[in-house]
Amino acid sequence: MVDHLANTEINSQRIAAVENCFGASGQPLAVPGRVLLGEGILTKECRKKPKPRIFFLFNDILVYGSIVINKRKYNSQHIIPLEDVTLETLPDTLQMKNRWMIKTSKKSFVVSAASLTERKEWISHLEECIRHLLTKTGRQPSTEHAAPWIPDKATDICMRCTQTKFSTLTRRHHCRKCGFVVCGDCSRQRFLMPRLSPKPLRVCNLCYRQLLNREHPGLAFSISIKSTLKDSH
Ligand SMILES: [Zn+2]
Ligand SMILES: [Zn+2]
Repeated sequence: MVDHLANTEINSQRIAAVENCFGASGQPLAVPGRVLLGEGILTKECRKKPKPRIFFLFNDILVYGSIVINKRKYNSQHIIPLEDVTLETLPDTLQMKNRWMIKTSKKSFVVSAASLTERKEWISHLEECIRHLLTKTGRQPSTEHAAPWIPDKATDICMRCTQTKFSTLTRRHHCRKCGFVVCGDCSRQRFLMPRLSPKPLRVCNLCYRQLLNREHPGLAFSISIKSTLKDSH
């Protein structure tokens, strides 16, 4: 596809320019066979609010970061192997148009492009790279992906108990399994999900029971009985 560009001077210069913009805050990006295909600013839906982020599409990775000065200085670099990526186009919301989700096993998030054409281009280039990589490695497209975090602003009440109202004193938490915004009481449990982290992570009560049930069938059932009995006293 673009392999003929891999060892060209212009490609090396473009990759070096990206490395320079990230400076010491980024990883080395030049590896044999890697080609920089394009770049652009997308709006990424973050926990607090949507933020502009610079994205670089290579033939094997997607790199993004925060913009300090456009085309000069970027930081907070993230590198996503394209082999692990699946995409899903999403409907417009009132605030955000031309959205799609970038899903990976570790993290999934929503981005939006400035226009429909731009979204179409990003998605077709991303999909072409993913297809190409999977053909080369013989791997199957990944099926399991991390749930995207629901933004804080999306709800004022806990999405599990629907009772607790959030305020400056009552903090929002995120379940690492379903991505829901939940209260402290509904997310007391931690669960080890090696795909996401070497440490046990906060999960909501519902996900905890499901995860437990998956690993120890029957155990979650007896626990929920116990808590039902306790609740009735
Ligand atoms: Zn709750
Ligand atoms: Zn959950």
